[in-house]
Amino acid sequence: MSVPGRAPARRDEMTAEWFDALNAGRLLLRTCPRGHRSRPDVLVCDHCGALDLGWAEAGGRGTVVARAVDHSTRPATCLVIVELDEGPWLTTRLEGASVERGENVVVRYVQGDEGEAYPVVTGLGPDAS
Ligand SMILES: [Zn+2]
Repeated sequence: MSVPGRAPARRDEMTAEWFDALNAGRLLLRTCPRGHRSRPDVLVCDHCGALDLGWAEAGGRGTVVARAVDHSTRPATCLVIVELDEGPWLTTRLEGASVERGENVVVRYVQGDEGEAYPVVTGLGPDAS
C-alpha cells in the first residue's frame, strides 16, 4: 500500500493474509477473541489489550472524519481519515469527486505498481446509506 506521507506496508508473514484479501477485493480488520475490531496494523486489541488477534472482514463502508489535500503530488492527492462502520479508522486516498467531513464513502481496491492491491475510498454522497 502506498499512501503519500506514510511508509508503504510490505508483504511479510504478518501482512500476507491482509494483502491476499485486498487482492481479492476484501478489507480485513483485526479482531480479538471478544469480537472487538481494530485497525489492520495493530498488534494488540485497541479495546481490551488482547494479543491473540485474528482477521475479520469489514463491510467496506464508512464516514469521513477528516480530509487534507497533499499539493506535493501532481495531480494533488486528497487524503482522508475514514471511520469504518465497524469502528476502526482507515487513513487512505480519496478517488473521484470531493467529499466533506461526515459524508459516506465506500472502499475500492486499486492494483498498485508493486503488484499488491491497496484500498482507496470514493464518495457516496451525504444521503447515501
Ligand atoms: Zn478486544
